[in-house]
Amino acid sequence: MEDALYLSKITKHVYLVHRRDAFRASRILQQRIMAEPKIETIFNARVAQIQSNENGVCAVVLEGTKTGEQKELSAEGVFIFVGFSPNSQLVPAGIKVSPTGYVITDERCETSIPGIFAIGDLRQKYANQIVIAAADGCTAALATAHYVEKQKASAVCSGLPA
Ligand SMILES: Cc1cc2nc3c(=O)[nH]c(=O)nc-3n(C[C@H](O)[C@H](O)[C@H](O)COP(=O)(O)OP(=O)(O)OC[C@H]3O[C@@H](n4cnc5c(N)ncnc54)[C@H](O)[C@@H]3O)c2cc1C
Repeated sequence: MEDALYLSKITKHVYLVHRRDAFRASRILQQRIMAEPKIETIFNARVAQIQSNENGVCAVVLEGTKTGEQKELSAEGVFIFVGFSPNSQLVPAGIKVSPTGYVITDERCETSIPGIFAIGDLRQKYANQIVIAAADGCTAALATAHYVEKQKASAVCSGLPA
């Protein structure tokens, strides 16, 4: 929804194609979309095909999600935005994740398993941006060094080889 509003500022017309019959976005965002004359919403449809000619994209084929009916729509560009899905296959079992699959950490980027850290987009947080992923990397590096030092110290105290 936010991207459609952004595109409406730099294009002549935006078709917002949505698979369901209603939006899930906040009401205020929906009102802004409905009030923007350059945005035309198309519900119950998905893009089945993107067509091109020598100039690039020229049309899309829309397929009704309820009817299966197909129709062609002229378009000079396609922006795909269908949401995010965390790439979390490598996350070890036992690490706490959010209902949507993002790893839950504390402010040091440490997960629910001590000594395992998660950073960047994989981590549950308010925003996903490059600067935040980079800052997470720094935080986790410092916290990891601290964790290793602490492990060494407790090994020395307990008489084990550090
Ligand atoms: C369309 C789009 C536009 C964006 N625009 C902006 C923007 O303008 N400004 C901004 O700040 N942020 C933007 N972002 C967000 C930004 O890209 C991310 O927040 C940032 O890249 C997260 O960094 P990361 O290291 O967590 O993940 P990524 O950058 O996704 O890096 C993860 C890396 O891990 C690799 N990987 C995955 N699985 C494995 C595996 N099993 N083994 C080895 N390697 C693996 C991947 O190939 C990838 O290289 C945008 C994101 C998208 C999708």
